[in-house]
Amino acid sequence: MPVDCLYCGESIADDVERCPHCGAPSHFQKKGFRVGARGRFLILFVLFSLTTLVVALLLPR
Ligand SMILES: [Zn+2]
Repeated sequence: MPVDCLYCGESIADDVERCPHCGAPSHFQKKGFRVGARGRFLILFVLFSLTTLVVALLLPR
């Protein structure tokens, strides 16, 4: 999916490391997003597990 370079405005692919037009590092590459998403997913997963545990303990049997 093509995106616009933040620096020169040219259309570039979102999976390239650098803009082929001006050489600026791309902010659209998925590598960076994946690291942040993984951390957020881990937090969500832990919260979900804790919530499930609390609900399971509080549920009347
Ligand atoms: Zn550029």
